[in-house]
Amino acid sequence: MDRFFTQTTCDRCGGSLSGGRIMSMLNTYCLCLVCKEKETTQEGYREAVEAEHRAIKRGNFNFKGIRG
Ligand SMILES: [Zn+2]
Repeated sequence: MDRFFTQTTCDRCGGSLSGGRIMSMLNTYCLCLVCKEKETTQEGYREAVEAEHRAIKRGNFNFKGIRG
């Protein structure tokens, strides 16, 4: 199974993912909800969301974020 679904700790803070997990918009990190919340206020987040929308419109569903 994909690592995203099997790992138990947040890639950013190392905390538990028992409260939920979500993929970062800026890279392929698997984040806890606390880190995801912080990410949404981070510089570059809005651009990343828009870049993904553009990628999806072009048919690229494997977009991996703007920072790799
Ligand atoms: Zn975290």
